Amino acid sequence: MPNLYDFEHLRKEINSGAERSATSMEVIYGNNFGKKDLTKSYLKQAKKTGLVQILAMHRVEHIRKNQDTSYTIQLAAIDTKGNTIESKTITAKHIFLGAGGLGTTEILLKSQKVNALPIPKSVGNFWGNNGNTMASLYTWMVIGHESRGRHQSTMPVRGLSNWNDRKHRFFAEIAPMPIFGSHTANYLIVNEVKKYGNLLIKHDGQLDILWNEENNAHMRKNAAFFLDKMNLHGSTGVQGNKYQNNTVLFPKDGIDETICYHPLGGCV
Ligand SMILES: Cc1cc2nc3c(=O)[nH]c(=O)nc-3n(C[C@H](O)[C@H](O)[C@H](O)COP(=O)(O)OP(=O)(O)OC[C@H]3O[C@@H](n4cnc5c(N)ncnc54)[C@H](O)[C@@H]3O)c2cc1C
Repeated sequence: MPNLYDFEHLRKEINSGAERSATSMEVIYGNNFGKKDLTKSYLKQAKKTGLVQILAMHRVEHIRKNQDTSYTIQLAAIDTKGNTIESKTITAKHIFLGAGGLGTTEILLKSQKVNALPIPKSVGNFWGNNGNTMASLYTWMVIGHESRGRHQSTMPVRGLSNWNDRKHRFFAEIAPMPIFGSHTANYLIVNEVKKYGNLLIKHDGQLDILWNEENNAHMRKNAAFFLDKMNLHGSTGVQGNKYQNNTVLFPKDGIDETICYHPLGGCV
């Protein structure tokens, strides 16, 4: 699968003592060395133009449209706990929002509520979790499966496709999880989103998501089907070939559809 980790750096981590990043399990909460993140790509290029000022630790509260068609942005300079240190405003002719699916939608919905900012009706709709479900297998009993040791790359690079099976349509990314002496296989299962959720601003001004078990019931079913299949063809479940018997990572039968790290939609 395509990946934004620098595999040259990864080779050096393993072979010639470069700073460990992927092989030091830095992935989910950020990556200090090998990831080609924005500070190495777009932000670096943007800074080079000399035309860009980056204000770190600033939160956009809301936007107002002025009579002369310019916009005023209400900003909060914040500390690392999110507390406001200073309030600021910026006025601009054009604004481009890049606050991610959740942040962008939140800013627009809040601005509509607070300042009657005109926004399309679709904002807040068509939200989904990218059909993501996590699933795990405990591979301790698998003959030939040995611990791979502490230093493994946690970058996912492979997946298994079951996309052409109309009854169980999914793609399973193999997400390395070097815990329990590595006797664990972990998968990010990507399904279709069949029923969309909605984003809205609650009375207390916080963003809320209308999304529940109905939205992801088929994702759990697909994950169970997948784990059973893996048990049959590879790792024998501890007490037979059922997915429930061969799990350790996620408490509800080794499947967790509440983890969401690909929030998509809301501002399509
Ligand atoms: C753990 C994890 C693993 C992932 N793995 C992969 C992967 O392997 N492959 C892949 O393709 N995708 C992956 N993704 C998804 C990918 O990271 C996102 O799709 C992508 O980062 C979205 O980019 P974005 O610029 O739209 O939003 P973001 O990267 O979310 O950037 C939005 C920015 O806006 C800021 N912001 C939000 N609200 C405000 C506000 N009110 N004021 C000011 N700033 C604000 C946020 O702080 C953030 O810096 C992963 C995500 C997570 C969390």
